[in-house]
Amino acid sequence: VHDGLPGVPVILHGARKCDVDGEAEGFWVVFEGDRITAVGEGAGWAAYAGRGADVVDAAGAVLTPGFVDLHCHGGGGFSFDAAGSDDGASERGGADAVDRALAVHRAHGTTRSVLSLVANPVAALERSLAAVADIAERDPLVLGSHLEGPFLAPGRRGAHNPDFLITPSPSLVERLAAAAGGTLRQVTIAPELPGALEVVPALAEAGVVVAVGHTEADEERAQAAFDRGARLLTHAFNAMPGIGHRSPGPVVAAIRDERVTAELVLDGVHVHPDVARLLLDAAAGRVALITDAMAAAGSADGSYKLGSLDVAVVDGVARLTGPDGAPGSIAGSTLTQDHALRLATQRCGLSLRDAVTALTWVPARVLGMDCQLGRLAPGYAADAVLLNDAWGVRAAWGAGRRLV
Ligand SMILES: [Zn+2]
Repeated sequence: VHDGLPGVPVILHGARKCDVDGEAEGFWVVFEGDRITAVGEGAGWAAYAGRGADVVDAAGAVLTPGFVDLHCHGGGGFSFDAAGSDDGASERGGADAVDRALAVHRAHGTTRSVLSLVANPVAALERSLAAVADIAERDPLVLGSHLEGPFLAPGRRGAHNPDFLITPSPSLVERLAAAAGGTLRQVTIAPELPGALEVVPALAEAGVVVAVGHTEADEERAQAAFDRGARLLTHAFNAMPGIGHRSPGPVVAAIRDERVTAELVLDGVHVHPDVARLLLDAAAGRVALITDAMAAAGSADGSYKLGSLDVAVVDGVARLTGPDGAPGSIAGSTLTQDHALRLATQRCGLSLRDAVTALTWVPARVLGMDCQLGRLAPGYAADAVLLNDAWGVRAAWGAGRRLV
């Protein structure tokens, strides 16, 4: 099997297709270049088998669109925050770290990634944003960057360094967007911060997805942000008030507003699976399963950095290290998206179709890319994941190229 030579089609046949449109047996798909050019059921694929096509018999295995991760900080021992640093640690500086982190997630079915950055000094963020823009230019599987910090509530900062949290202003947001050169995809904002509701519409109009998160906001304040154009809730339940019977909070505001999608870290740790299930039912079709993974994803337990903070990973659970060395708050996850798929189906009662949709079409729609990503249909990107019997990843393609 070659890795997708230009002009040589890839044909996958005999699959059990599962995407937002439903399931189909005996499914086949043709990739030419970075696009899907034909799909069908049965034996019709044979007509495309000339020109030395790379023919893969799925033998009844499940085939899904590539997973889209809206929120991920790294993996394999590397963080995307290193994108802008060239400390000579590796030949290609920060870009090498990014590639190595992405390789972990690609092996677990994530074909398109938004690279999340934690709070840092503005100049450092500008360097990281510019570096991600360079990477996105050469790698179509990188969708751009997500500023998770610095516009966060100090009391809900999680694993963001309090020294680098600031209030938003139009000029600052413009400066950061300029550094990203059109590749800033997402910004998380605590809407109760001074100036926050002012920058939400400016970002939304510039095509940036505004997410409510790391916030003390009550239901009304969250709703005010949604009414001004925020369309996402950053890792629902985590780093925000939960649902109280007299204080509905931002999660209920997101559930109630059909325009809004909720991110969920479905790793069995960040949110109890039974509570995750409530959200998945209440906001059906509007929950995006993200990883929020940090450097330890796909790597060993031990000591890591998340931005400038120390994180200890024990049994795959990442926590900040407190001043006394005691474990502090949860600091990102070690999740991969195939694991989220398994938990969604085996622990939260989602159908395979709904779980796959939450990993593919829902996040694509948040980004306004649901006409390009998240479906196995002609005209869509040649992104696909072939699952094994245990619903791990047997093979994956991104933009027509074999990733694993
Ligand atoms: Zn976070």
